[in-house]
Amino acid sequence: MKIAYVSYEVSPFAKAGGLADVAGALPKYIKNAGEDIYVVMPFHKNIENNYDISKFEVVKTDLIPDSHTHKSPFSVYKSYLEGSSVVIYFIKTDTLYDSKNIYDEENIFLKTSYFCDSVLKTIKECEPDTNVINANDWHTSLIPVYLKTVYLQDNILKKIATILTIHNIGYQGLFNPEVLNQAGLPNYLFNINALEYYGKVNILKGGILFSNIINTVSPTYAKEIQTEEYGYGLEGILKVRSEDLFGVLNGIDYSIYDPLKDPHIFYPIESYKDKLKNKTSLQEYLGLVKDENVTLISFIGRLFEQKGIDLISKIIDFLLLTDIQFVLLGTGDKKYEEYFATLTKLYPKKVSINITFDVDLAQKIYAGSDIFLMPSKYEPCGLGQMYSMRYGTVPVVRYTGGLKDTVSEYNPKDKKGTGFGFYEYQEANLLYTLMNAVYFHQKRNDDWTNIFENCMKEDFSYEKTAKKYIELYKIALDKKRGY
Ligand code: ADP
Repeated sequence: MKIAYVSYEVSPFAKAGGLADVAGALPKYIKNAGEDIYVVMPFHKNIENNYDISKFEVVKTDLIPDSHTHKSPFSVYKSYLEGSSVVIYFIKTDTLYDSKNIYDEENIFLKTSYFCDSVLKTIKECEPDTNVINANDWHTSLIPVYLKTVYLQDNILKKIATILTIHNIGYQGLFNPEVLNQAGLPNYLFNINALEYYGKVNILKGGILFSNIINTVSPTYAKEIQTEEYGYGLEGILKVRSEDLFGVLNGIDYSIYDPLKDPHIFYPIESYKDKLKNKTSLQEYLGLVKDENVTLISFIGRLFEQKGIDLISKIIDFLLLTDIQFVLLGTGDKKYEEYFATLTKLYPKKVSINITFDVDLAQKIYAGSDIFLMPSKYEPCGLGQMYSMRYGTVPVVRYTGGLKDTVSEYNPKDKKGTGFGFYEYQEANLLYTLMNAVYFHQKRNDDWTNIFENCMKEDFSYEKTAKKYIELYKIALDKKRGY
């Protein structure tokens, strides 16, 4: 089986969030499990700035997508996923992918639709024996739409099965109906049974309806998105397709996120003592008071309400009256960036606010904290809690989506469990849960080392995930063939 894994972001070439990590890791494990897989992404301008591209090979030039009205030529560059033999193709065209922020709204429909049609052209030119395309999120959701409309009779493309992976249903790609013409797609798609959605074109809806199967990144989120609370208006069509909707938990790349070998962290972590050495080094590095006993609580992520940042902002003042330190790393909503920045001035020795995107610092924080905070309003899978557990940092979460599937409540009676959590999205619940975790950290040392050890023993490696994806690819092919 040959699979094209198509993503708008792939680590380490361009990363905005968790999708990049998955796209940079999962294909390697699928290949290790014996399947033929390659990755396709846009050649974002900042790849040139962050990465040595001299090793990229130019495999095609002057290609033009067959249906799209934007007729600028593109080239196909080839390289490999980090530390592997998995091929990655980059679609390179003048000016289109120049923004510093890869999801910059300007011309985003043109950029994403051109990419989708160019991927199909690349498959025809470079990988005509592809059997399955795995699209990811709305940015690549037009691929199944193209396949089931303008390329229905194409000799190469007509046999390809599709699976759409939804990493976040909160982002759907809504545009005016005219965009269909721009993409070279038929007007009849502007129809309630296709892409029409309250007078707009909804690209993710197209992906959901036109893919052979759909999956999302945790079993709980697969159920949640079929409800009004989590479906963001698409719960109805997801229910219609519920037989073809699957939930597969993401993993983390153990070859990169390795507490014994990670070059970013201060000391390798094998025991709780090593953990404390990382903690005090982190305190020193960030200008906090060096103290093994204070509870160091951290947050890494996008500063948006999806991540529960509003709840954190409501309780942080109270929390800082107690014996804790707080480290934040993230960018996002200006309102929260500014709010948290003010805390540094008020509590310079207790708080470290880092409004930036910094992978090196992220690793140091995962390794050096006691508690990792993730009180998300919704969380399709979430990687932060898995990274933190891998480095022996105890997660405090809201039990939703992938957080529910990966964190289990610590029970002092049987000594099982990896963290602490709550259900109702309310600041009082977060505060209570967090104070309980702080109590365990400060007063119940034996329990705390149990939790530390339980976290470090968890298995979030990609092998299981890869096997499940291969099963899904087979199901997609069967559906395509009408079995
Ligand atoms: P999402 O994809 O919704 O943003 P995830 O938890 O799935 O959330 O993945 C977020 C990824 O991005 C993690 O690898 C996290 O460490 C990383 N990340 C988020 N914000 C930052 C930041 N400011 N600096 C460095 N890494 C970050």
